[in-house]
Amino acid sequence: MKGDQTKLVHGGDPNPRILGSVVPPIFQSATYEQNEEGGYHDGKYIRMSNTPGHDLLHDKLSLICETESALVTSSGMAAITSALLANLEQGDVLLAENRLYGGTEAFISEDLPRRGVRIERFDGMDPASWGTPPEGAKVLYCEAITNPICRVADFSKLIEWARKHGLFTIIDATFATPILLRPASVGFDLEVHSATKGLNGHGDIAAGLVAGNRKNIEKVRLCLNYLGGHLDAHAGFLLYRGLRTLGLRVERQCENALGLARYLSTHPRVKAVNYPSLESHPDHAHCLEYMDGRGGGGLSMEIEGDAETAQRVCASTRFMANAPSLGGVETLIVRPAASSHASVSPEVRERYGVTEGLIRVACGVEDLEDLVDDIDQALEGSHA
Ligand SMILES: *Cc1c(COP(=O)(O)O)cnc(C)c1O
Repeated sequence: MKGDQTKLVHGGDPNPRILGSVVPPIFQSATYEQNEEGGYHDGKYIRMSNTPGHDLLHDKLSLICETESALVTSSGMAAITSALLANLEQGDVLLAENRLYGGTEAFISEDLPRRGVRIERFDGMDPASWGTPPEGAKVLYCEAITNPICRVADFSKLIEWARKHGLFTIIDATFATPILLRPASVGFDLEVHSATKGLNGHGDIAAGLVAGNRKNIEKVRLCLNYLGGHLDAHAGFLLYRGLRTLGLRVERQCENALGLARYLSTHPRVKAVNYPSLESHPDHAHCLEYMDGRGGGGLSMEIEGDAETAQRVCASTRFMANAPSLGGVETLIVRPAASSHASVSPEVRERYGVTEGLIRVACGVEDLEDLVDDIDQALEGSHA
């Protein structure tokens, strides 16, 4: 299998098919007969993430991620916390990019320091500022397309710097999905994803993914085993089903986002549009180099007017729901200052580029014409 969509449709399917079943069944069983002597982490048990249902997902996902191994988890945060906890110990320094997902930010700034892990920041977009990592630096952590202003780092440069200083590298590639970016091929040691978003793509489950080489994934799995962040069997079935159309969905979401970004760039009520496929975006060259110029389904815009005007836009779309999340078949619209970044201090919000009037649109797979119409009427109607 060479093509992404073929891998997504057929990869991982049992051969021969189980009782001829074209769609693999749900293995709704917590425990499995033991037929050999094994240790605690070897017996087939749902919390050990080694049931036949888990194996199917791991095979499909490692194929599409082009990694030796993959591990599904109960949520994106379970993937992120297990990947970090498995690789950090007391006295270590975590070098974290200075713009991260809110849940990750809370974990590294509130929980890790209590375990004796120090957090240092770096600006992923400013290689000139990197210099020498602080003493004790062990893990470098960054994101593929930052939320909500869609910055894309020079990943090869970042890896080169990390390797020079012996850092273990982890990237949250949720916004890119494996369709747009293959972190392993760029040189990252581990990639983590919230499969709640694009990988599942239908907004109906929580799930996560860690992918990398066998040794690194086994280390995370042992940690996940006692933390208890395994993926449930039924959610696993839905994820398996969602994955089958990932390539088609991401392609359409990218087309929609680019079309909408181009339209909004010329809209009189819009001051600025952040989308990396646009030539005007500061990281357009990185988007071209690492993601074939495809910027994903998310874009953000600053509109004329204050927070209330922006809030009115989000509340007056006809079919776009005013809700967080992304990567689903339906388009969602949200004001980051009132949602994903509501609990963040004004200084940090400014560092993230989250202004009061910023609006994020996470494109689904509807028709572009209808997305344009919906946002257009919301922008017109919201003008006080
Ligand atoms: C949503 C998200 C997460 C957290 O994933 P959950 O599945 O909600 O736990 C982590 N990182 C990014 C970039 C996300 O968008």
